[in-house]
Amino acid sequence: MRCSVQNCTNDTKRTTKSHGITFHMFPKETNLRTAWIEALGVLDWEPRDRSTICSEHFRNEDFYQTKCGLRKIKNGAVPVVLQDSSEDLDAPAAFLRASELSYQLYIK
Ligand SMILES: [Zn+2]
Repeated sequence: MRCSVQNCTNDTKRTTKSHGITFHMFPKETNLRTAWIEALGVLDWEPRDRSTICSEHFRNEDFYQTKCGLRKIKNGAVPVVLQDSSEDLDAPAAFLRASELSYQLYIK
């Protein structure tokens, strides 16, 4: 199953935990689920039961470790998805995305 984020090529078959990437299912809680879908920037799309998003779209502080050593997403956390940046880079939205990106690089 591929990550549900457009342009993301991480796949549950090819990308394993040894790459430091984990896959996370959509929350069942409606409001949060909607927030995730909106974060993906896709309209008129519903995740399937087994749709997942990979850990690359979450911030470090969005994760927690279970007693069994599993990495999970904190309740209420929403993915950060960088949209296609082929638009005008002077646009405020693009600037915001760029700062998000540098933020992500900073926390790595
Ligand atoms: Zn992904």
